[in-house]
Amino acid sequence: MTDCLFCKIIEGEIGSTTIYSDDDVVAIEDINPQAPVHLLVLPRKHIATTMDIEDDDLELMGRCLAVAKLLAKEKGIEQTGFRVVLNAGPDAGQSVYHIHYHVLGGRPMKWPPG
Ligand code: AMP
Ligand code: ZN
Repeated sequence: MTDCLFCKIIEGEIGSTTIYSDDDVVAIEDINPQAPVHLLVLPRKHIATTMDIEDDDLELMGRCLAVAKLLAKEKGIEQTGFRVVLNAGPDAGQSVYHIHYHVLGGRPMKWPPG
């Protein structure tokens, strides 16, 4: 999609710190980290939000989670724990409408989130 920040990052039109890339999934460092580890796992396919996930996308979403798991291990937070967050819509604070899993770790976290 032409007017999507994360599509532009995936296409290399906008710079980012890419830490993982395959045919279907890309992961980058969040530009404004909220924890010592703060990654974003993105499907290459433009899916605006959780409500736009279709049955054909379910394997892709699972692959994103598998990448989150892989990167948690690479970052050394697999034992201390981490949070995977998928904000959906205004009340959740979604600001980029290209679906992305936040992977946050490296510090204790509170619950419930604000
Ligand atoms: P959300 O609010 O759930 O839509 O998350 C969007 C995330 O994208 C925020 O954590 C931002 O810090 C992050 N972000 C925005 N622009 C960039 C960028 N150019 N590169 C990396 N992360 C970004
Ligand atoms: Zn997009």
